[in-house]
Order: sequence, then C-alpha cells, then structure tokens
Amino acid sequence: MELEKVKKISFVANAVILTIVFGLMAFFYISDVMFLTYFSIPTIFVYLIGFVLISKEKLLWYVRMVFIWLTLYMCVTTVCLGYDYGFHMYCFSVIPISFISEYIGYKINSRKLKAFKFSICMALLSLISTGYVAYFGPVYEREHKYAAIFWLINSSSVMGFLIFYANFLIKTIISSEEKLNEIALVDRLTGLYNRHYMINCLDKMDDNYRSAYLAMADIDDFKKINDTYGHNAGDLVLEKVSQKMKAECKGCTVSRWGGEEFLILIPPAVDKPVELIEKLRQSIASENVRYEDKEISVTITAGISPRTNEPSIDRWIQTVDSKLYDGKHSGKNKVVS
Ligand code: GH3
Ligand code: MG
Ligand code: MG
Repeated sequence: MELEKVKKISFVANAVILTIVFGLMAFFYISDVMFLTYFSIPTIFVYLIGFVLISKEKLLWYVRMVFIWLTLYMCVTTVCLGYDYGFHMYCFSVIPISFISEYIGYKINSRKLKAFKFSICMALLSLISTGYVAYFGPVYEREHKYAAIFWLINSSSVMGFLIFYANFLIKTIISSEEKLNEIALVDRLTGLYNRHYMINCLDKMDDNYRSAYLAMADIDDFKKINDTYGHNAGDLVLEKVSQKMKAECKGCTVSRWGGEEFLILIPPAVDKPVELIEKLRQSIASENVRYEDKEISVTITAGISPRTNEPSIDRWIQTVDSKLYDGKHSGKNKVVS
C-alpha cells in the first residue's frame, strides 16, 4: 500500500466524519442538548485540523488525534444521552480500526500507532462512561423519540466497520500468503517454478498422471556462454529460454531444476509429449539471443520418459537424467526418448 493511497483514503474518511459531525450538531441543537451542540464545535476543528495533518503527511498525528477525539466523543455522548442512542458501541469498531491503522503504518514504513495501549485506554474510558450511565443515568433525560433511529444508524455503522475490518484482514492475510508462496515457490530470475515446487507437484500426483511424461532439459555449453559473453548474458539466456519453455509447453508444469537445468512435467492431457519437447528444442535453436550487439546461439539437450512402469518418482527423474546424459554424450542439441 502506498502513501498516496493512504492519504486519499484518510481524506475521504475525514470528510465523511466531518459531515456526520455537522449532522449530529444540528440534531443536538434541535433536541436542545446544548452541551453536545457546543462540544461539536471543537470536534469540527479537530477534523479541519485533520485535513491539514493529512496533506502534510503527518498521518500518525492525524490518527492519534482522531482516535482520541472519537473516544472522547463516544464517552461524552454516552454520558449525556445514555445507552439508547448506541454511541457507546463505537468502541467495538474503533478498536479493530486502530489495529488496522497500526498495520498500515507498518506497511508504509511510517511510525505506527500503538494500537494495543490505545485500545486498553479506550476500553477503560468506555467502561467508565457506560458505568456512569448505569449508575447515575444520562445527564439529559429526553423523551427518546429519535433514539431508535440513532440506535439503528450507530449499530449498523459499527457492524459495517466490523465487516470491513474482517474483510480487510482476511484479504490481507490471503494476499500475503500468496506473495510468500510466490517467493518460496517461484524462481526469481526465470519466473519458473523452483525445484521445491516441482518436488511437491510430483509427490502429489495421483493415478490420473499414470501416463504423464517427464522431460529434463539442459542448456548446452552454458559455461562457455558465461565465459565468452559474461554472467549477465548468461542470465539473459536463462530468461529467454525460460520464456520459450513457458510459451511452448502450455498446460505443463515447467520448473528450473538447477542452474541451467529444467524439469518439465507433461500431463496426460497434453498431446504428443515427445514432439512437444522436440518442437521446443527446435524453437530455441532457431533463434539467437541478442545481448547488447552480440548474437548468442543457444541450444538445449533433453531427455524424456513416460511415467509408465517407473517404480518411483526418484527413479523416473533418474531415467530422464540418464537420457539427458546420453544426449550430451552423443552430440548435444537433441531430444532422447
Ligand atoms: P553441458 O553442455 O554439458 O551442459 O555444459 P555446460 O557448460 O552447460 O554445463 P556446466 O555444468 O559445465 O556449467 C553450467 C554453468 O552454469 C556453470 C554455472 O556457473 C552456470 N550457472 C548456473 N546458474 C547460473 C545462473 O543463474 N546464471 C548464470 N549466468 N550462470 C549460471
Ligand atoms: Mg548445460
Ligand atoms: Mg547442467
């Protein structure tokens, strides 16, 4: 999440809260609850200052100020009007939102709100104000003709906050897990799956994969490419070969098995696996890799074998490896099946 996005969201939230404060002020005035009408004036200033703090990127100060004032507002309105209006419920939504703020602070590398301490203070103040009302009753005893509407609005917005919070939390967890998985299972240079992912994939294969094929491909004389054109050129060759593999081997699982070695799992649904790998070999051989002003010719050798009759995954890998070895020792740039 970037700072600009956080600023935009804070701006909109601040504007919404300020509008609500104006609405409430009008209601308090009409209901002749003068203390709350006057209390709305500093509240309006708080949110106006909020706009300044957001635009100056003092987000932590903004968040602190808003949360402290929200807590105060919640306590004061509860003491004045009692439970029937439902202002005391905001504690349930402001606490999770404070933890979101702490998390956002962490994400944008800014200083973080201390949500844990803040929540405890907020819970205590909320208990004190509701305790006061329970014991002494509200300061303003009104015939509560609007209480039901307030209760409805306040409780729905608290529920709305909680739904937003839970949704935000779960989406964040899922996207973090996906990112971590990508880091853990995808090779950074080539964008192909790594060895770890491939081993998992092979281990999880079910009976439907009985007629699958496995191919092991290795770039020919790659050391010479590195030695002649440099390591960066070698990296570029790895990238280009990987792109070709992804493009040619649709429906297959392609992994970078080691340095310049690739393991490709071809599921039964893919037609003519041997021809597919042969086409891949030809495609790589037919096009040079351009590095700066140099043309680098690249070829691969591959071994390919079906799953049938292989007693174990390890043996299957050994089989394709030995076919690859045969290819390397009989001239390279070929597919051995
Ligand atoms: P063969 O045709 O028999 O496969 O010979 P080869 O030179 O391709 O094989 P060899 O195993 O002798 O050399 C592989 C080289 O690949 C050695 C290593 O430095 C290089 N290599 C491994 N990983 C990378 C990488 O990520 N980037 C680059 N540029 N080179 C790498
Ligand atoms: Mg090689
Ligand atoms: Mg090798």
